Amino acid sequence: MKRILVTGGAGFIGSHLCERLLNEGNEVICLDNFFTGSKQNIRHLLGNPYFELVRHDVTESYYAEIDQIYNLACPASPVHYQYNPIKTIKTSVMGAINMLGLAKRVKATILQASTSEVYGDPQVHPQTEDYWGHVNPIGIRSCYDEGKRCAETLCMDYHNQNKVAIKIIRIFNTYGPRMHPNDGRVVSNFIVQALKNEPITMYGDGSQTRSFQYVDDLVEGMMRMMNSRPDFIGPVNIGNPNEFTILQLAQKVIELTGSQSKIEFKPLPQDDPMQRRPNIAKAMENLNGWQPTIQLEEGLMKTIEYFKGI
Ligand code: NAD
Ligand code: UDP
Repeated sequence: MKRILVTGGAGFIGSHLCERLLNEGNEVICLDNFFTGSKQNIRHLLGNPYFELVRHDVTESYYAEIDQIYNLACPASPVHYQYNPIKTIKTSVMGAINMLGLAKRVKATILQASTSEVYGDPQVHPQTEDYWGHVNPIGIRSCYDEGKRCAETLCMDYHNQNKVAIKIIRIFNTYGPRMHPNDGRVVSNFIVQALKNEPITMYGDGSQTRSFQYVDDLVEGMMRMMNSRPDFIGPVNIGNPNEFTILQLAQKVIELTGSQSKIEFKPLPQDDPMQRRPNIAKAMENLNGWQPTIQLEEGLMKTIEYFKGI
């Protein structure tokens, strides 16, 4: 049995990760400030004696005897991370410093939840881990992108200077049950709009692309990465390489929900990446053949069922 700290554990991805870690016989400390996460996401875990919930902000230091840290604390939706950009960058940078410091002190392995946003609006397609990216340092997405890039730098520096055991994963667009209905990200927005027969808000002409990964595939990849051989530290892309335009996504959601919704075109936000697709060769090679198993239609059906239920 390992004692595992999950920061951002009451969020969308964190709640699935906590659940899976508990199911595999671990003890889990879920640390969250509930900015975008909620107790509702982990309510079903609260009765488990091996689950502990801590209200805490990662920008403040924290101490616990633990074996592993999954550092997920950070708002992920553009709407939420742009709400208070200074807080967002503090969360990424000071959160990483605090969690790396803790990992150093208790000799824990730390997995940093980085993002495909480190590639910015990529000019290399699909994105491989050796691509340095095309990121605007002073735009509306910078608080998130640059915060996450700096967190990666901190991981590498703690590893090289202090021998901290690190793992960096770059997560590509992930969706599934427990996304907040007002989260603002595209999959949840489109499903909620379609179920209410309201207009589907299409930013730009919908020709921009994303590659959507179902949350269970991500959790599997995260756990394989955490427990991979010590010299494999990443960064490694974890995503589903099947790429869709946002217009195709809208059409798929309308079809699967049988909705009467019409598409309403709105301006494309500043610096919205035009294309995104992971090259996952490195993950497949180093994580025992890991690859996504749930494709878009199946994942959307599960997510639609969830949103119908709430
Ligand atoms: P989310 O917003 O549902 O979860 C983030 C969690 O972190 C929430 O529970 C929130 O309350 C908590 N949090 C935020 N600031 C905090 C702070 N200062 N102290 C403590 N807790 C704090 O988002 P998510 O989709 O579950 O994302 C989880 C992680 O994965 C994030 O680090 C995000 O950057 C990363 N990621 C997600 C995606 C995706 O598509 N979902 C893609 C790339 C990277
Ligand atoms: N998007 C959209 N309508 C929405 C929400 C998002 O057309 O209601 C677009 C957004 O402009 C982007 C894509 O969908 O091109 C993915 O957006 P999301 O916020 O989910 O993630 P990110 O841009 O961070 O990949």
